[in-house]
Amino acid sequence: MKSTAHHFKANARAALLDEPLQQALHKMQRGFVDKRAAALREIPDFDALREQGKRIKDHALAHLDVYLERFDEALTAQGGHVHWALDADAATEIILDICRRNGARRVIKSKTMVGEEIDLNTALASAGLETIESDLGEYIIQLANEPPSHIIAPAVHKTRATISSLFDLHHHQRKGQPPRAVGELVNEARGVLREKFLTADVGISGANFLIAETGTVVLVTNEGNADLSATLPRVHIVIAGIDKIVASLADVTPLLRLLGRSATGQAMSAYTTFITGPRRAGERDGPVHYHVVLLDNGRTRMLGGEFRAMLRCIRCGACLNHCPVYSAIGGHAYGWVYPGPMGSVLTPLFVGLQASVDLPNACTLNGRCEAVCPVKIPLPELLRRLRDLQLEQRLTSRTGRWALRAWGWLARRPRLYHASTRLGVRLLRVFSGKRGAVRRMPLAGGWTASRDLPLPAAETFQTAWRRHTAKSPP
Ligand code: SF4
Repeated sequence: MKSTAHHFKANARAALLDEPLQQALHKMQRGFVDKRAAALREIPDFDALREQGKRIKDHALAHLDVYLERFDEALTAQGGHVHWALDADAATEIILDICRRNGARRVIKSKTMVGEEIDLNTALASAGLETIESDLGEYIIQLANEPPSHIIAPAVHKTRATISSLFDLHHHQRKGQPPRAVGELVNEARGVLREKFLTADVGISGANFLIAETGTVVLVTNEGNADLSATLPRVHIVIAGIDKIVASLADVTPLLRLLGRSATGQAMSAYTTFITGPRRAGERDGPVHYHVVLLDNGRTRMLGGEFRAMLRCIRCGACLNHCPVYSAIGGHAYGWVYPGPMGSVLTPLFVGLQASVDLPNACTLNGRCEAVCPVKIPLPELLRRLRDLQLEQRLTSRTGRWALRAWGWLARRPRLYHASTRLGVRLLRVFSGKRGAVRRMPLAGGWTASRDLPLPAAETFQTAWRRHTAKSPP
């Protein structure tokens, strides 16, 4: 997928003015947050489970080479084929080659964010293959010709009215009908997709986890579409990042308990499928040919660097759902495959810091993303580190660099710093006049253009602290 992350500010401005998007975001946010909170109440020590999830992923990453080879051996022994792809071009070439060799004309896909990462649909279309998305959300955005806006709910930005119009246009070639009920729309999509499942030559899916011990691919969905994509066509291709590996079957259980609750507030997703190889002799269903494409695409570089913790991500979407920035602008504004806090770290690592310079700054550093992350990824710390790199690489604006240098100089001189904050507070109170808020402030026009700065407290924190410690000495 082509990145527009360099247009983040313009994208965000447009998103804030998009009325249907704002309605959809408002509806979405509380749903995910409340359901997760309710699901967590059922597990008294959820934090211990998060710690266990973190350990499992860290262990797999520390021995990634060993476990990837073990996965390859185990799956090959079961009759599957493992392919190694260094980058997006290599992965799409492998997939196209498998399609060609099997004379494929129609491909049915279930949701895969790695597929978005390598722009798989464009490659399949250029090769003349008809590709149908089978996840309902993905199907909707395929009709709308849009990328996903959320990693687990790709069409979350669409209202029922817009989906109804899309279905009218694409299924019935009509316009201007009143919106239909959700159940009716779901049944209509089911009818269209069922025929595609039965006639597809190749099924393509992602993977939630890869189990090294058994060579198993784990797929988690709520619609069962991944299972149909994996079972009905003669050929099944799995595309997965190498970070999906875990050591053993036992390691998957805690991660599944974390994933469902963090993503949708479910104890368990409706369909959790373990696939180990193609159809065996005597079996009535399953693919005849089964391939797993293991994608690096920059992950080994991440593994050896300071952003390694990001490879623990299990793509649950909790950090998006709890992020005030994502909640205000939705996923498209981020301009690439991965939105929200996890995307603000991943996009610069995948497409380059220069090409996504605003993303590490699209964050209030409130820490909610880290607090809800099921594998304890220190997202605010990683975002701060990206900001450091921006400064080191002189990607920050000249004014920003000057302001930071000035602040650093001042912060190393505590007496002067305290005196200037006292002066600053006094000036702000003068600026605010009787309104009780600052409407316009030099050097902070971007902030005050759309909101007032509340009147600062008369006393600075340091003055209050000195007074407090003088009254009650330690
Ligand atoms: S960073 Fe954490 S919270 Fe965000 S999607 Fe990944 S695992 Fe989930």
